[in-house]
Amino acid sequence: LYSHSTLIIIGTGMAGIGLARALRRQGDTRAINLISADSGDDYSKPLLSTGFAKRLTPDQLAQRDASSVAEELDAELITHTQVAHLHVDNQRVELSNGQQLHYDDLVLATGAAPHTPFSVPESVAKRCFTINDLDEYRRFYAALGATPTKRVAVVGAGLVGCEFANDLHAGGHQVTLIAPESTPLQRLLPEPLGQALADAFQEAGIQLALGHNLTTLSLNVDDALSLRLDNGDLYAADIALLATGLVPRTQLAEAAGLAVSPRGIVVDRQLRTSRPNIFALGDVACVEGVNAMYVQPLQASVKALASTLAGKPTSVSFGAWPVIVKTPLLPVVAYPPVTTPARWRIEGEGGEMTAIAENKDGRLIGFALTGSCVRRKVELSRVAPALLG
Ligand code: FAD
Repeated sequence: LYSHSTLIIIGTGMAGIGLARALRRQGDTRAINLISADSGDDYSKPLLSTGFAKRLTPDQLAQRDASSVAEELDAELITHTQVAHLHVDNQRVELSNGQQLHYDDLVLATGAAPHTPFSVPESVAKRCFTINDLDEYRRFYAALGATPTKRVAVVGAGLVGCEFANDLHAGGHQVTLIAPESTPLQRLLPEPLGQALADAFQEAGIQLALGHNLTTLSLNVDDALSLRLDNGDLYAADIALLATGLVPRTQLAEAAGLAVSPRGIVVDRQLRTSRPNIFALGDVACVEGVNAMYVQPLQASVKALASTLAGKPTSVSFGAWPVIVKTPLLPVVAYPPVTTPARWRIEGEGGEMTAIAENKDGRLIGFALTGSCVRRKVELSRVAPALLG
């Protein structure tokens, strides 16, 4: 039925490749074009923040290169190429080289881009990195290999910053974690649990510089990177990893007149944008107000969209899937409440803590666990409300 139609998927992250794979698995024979700004290698992004502890080279993290992906999926794969414009009226995408490609259905799987809320002067740009894909991991890995003392400043104490701080430390590097929040993982953990993670980091030898904004990045006389905070404190490092947040890449959609919000491309439960033959999923999509930016919602979206594209319109739902933070120094699992809780009930001490978020009727609406208490995740997920029921 679909053998003569063309599907273009923009993006070869878990969402883009996952969707193409799901379609082929269900016997879909239409032409599939995958277009990617990066190398198009198939890799697991969550493993990027576990690579230094395991001493993995970038190539060991790539599960398949782009040409094997193309072969496996019987798809055309255009790599290192940006899509510059969407011409939605005549169903074409325009590449950065000017080439235009026709689609019958279009899927935007363009992910989210690192966002740095301060300016990085040209003089230090070569020492400052983000890691949001395998290509960036390659660059950071090469730079780290070339520095003699390997003092790494990790800026940002969200999931990505904390995981890399732990992983780089496990990989033998001297890590300083810098963030304006007073405790790490503030979006996931109430303060006492965040403090437990901070304590675990500090005991292990990670230097913490929390509670202050970074104001200046410069090179000092020894050619080391100097990071100045708003209280005047100075930290020296060889390189910096900036993990200060991710913003959905909505520009293409927005310029084409599709509905977008700050949380992503607006899609309905069938992952359909405001244009009927254009869909979005993964980190770039905001499904009925929810942009989860985690693997489980992404995988559920892949499944639903593969069915919808096969002619069986399918709505996606997201369960109460907690976030598992890869900080072996203190395991953390969290299912943050969507609305501000009336109270947090916090039990335990040291690194062994359970925090339950309750609404005004005493109903559990989220939770956070540290240490061996992470075992309670299954039991608590069962009673928590679904993310998108
Ligand atoms: P991406 O992987 O970002 O892919 C976007 C693709 O779009 C790329 O191929 C890019 O090149 C392409 N693209 C963008 N714009 C254009 C354009 N204009 N033209 C052409 N191509 C374009 N989640 C978990 O659930 N568990 C974890 O343990 C976990 N760990 C993580 C650790 C790290 C370090 C990070 C950064 C994230 C982690 N996540 C984790 C989140 C999870 O990895 C992401 O939600 C998921 O990988 C997003 O996939 P995606 O395909 O939507 O986006």
